[in-house]
Amino acid sequence: MKIVILSRNPSLYSTSRLVEAAEARGHETRVINHTKCNILIEKKNPQIFYNGEEIKDVDAIIPRIGASVTFYGTAVVRQFEMMNVFTTVDSQSLVRSRDKLRSFQVLSRAGLGLPKTVFTNYSRDVESIIEQVGGAPLIIKLLEGTQGLGVVLAETRKAASSVLEAFNGLKARVIVQEFISEAKGADIRAFVVDGRVVGAIKRQGKQGEFRSNLHRGGTAEVIELSREEEIAAVRAARSLKLGVAGVDMLQSERGPLIIEVNSSPGLEGIEKATGKDVAGEIIKFIETNS
Ligand code: ADP
Ligand code: GLU
Repeated sequence: MKIVILSRNPSLYSTSRLVEAAEARGHETRVINHTKCNILIEKKNPQIFYNGEEIKDVDAIIPRIGASVTFYGTAVVRQFEMMNVFTTVDSQSLVRSRDKLRSFQVLSRAGLGLPKTVFTNYSRDVESIIEQVGGAPLIIKLLEGTQGLGVVLAETRKAASSVLEAFNGLKARVIVQEFISEAKGADIRAFVVDGRVVGAIKRQGKQGEFRSNLHRGGTAEVIELSREEEIAAVRAARSLKLGVAGVDMLQSERGPLIIEVNSSPGLEGIEKATGKDVAGEIIKFIETNS
């Protein structure tokens, strides 16, 4: 098959591993920078051009679209869909997964465990918001944040209300969330491919850090998921219609709580900690479904 990986940087670990895994399984690959693609639309003839060359006869695409280029990246994915090319994540699911609030609404409807979360239209009634998540300590997250930047732990009501007022003043959208202290600065990343967990790691924040992001100095180790955690991860990916998903969960007294579902999950942390060929699983997913 001819597989195109949509990525801005061919030297990224995830991109190069996908190329390697696809070629190891006998496929032809090409890395294309989606931000440099032109989309041509006319009656019944959708086309994509890259550096002036028409991209055609593609069997499948693997979108690795960064959060900052979701709008254009999704348009390119949609154009491939118009050309009947298989995609590991369809454009609608990609957009939905980038919208934290919408994803939470869908996950909640599917009956998944979530930390209690409040979202408002810059409400000035910060006292009520704090009350609704059960008081301080609480978590405030910028809706557009990634890699743990923009996630604040407000330890007191006073801190919570001043941070909320500051974000409101900046017209920055935030979600306010119950702080899960039992998680002890750790979270679980379950990597789901085609309805199955293909690897899971536990990430632990460095000493004194409640955020476990590897970019914030956290460490990762392989973990055996409980049955409940495995089911939650698979259901989360399914409810958001993601064939490939990184499901992040906190271990709480009331079971796994989902904090985020990533539609372009990185391969480095999971492959290095588990020693598994996760890229190969993604290629197998294409082989069976395209
Ligand atoms: P990002 O998308 O920026 O990584 P997350 O929502 O994943 O933001 O939060 C970053 C980290 O903060 C998580 O990996 C987790 O360790 C911690 N965290 C997030 N939400 C909570 C919460 N409600 N309670 C306790 N810890 C949390
Ligand atoms: N198909 C709908 C959409 O993506 C579903 C939305 C939802 O599941 O809430 O627009």
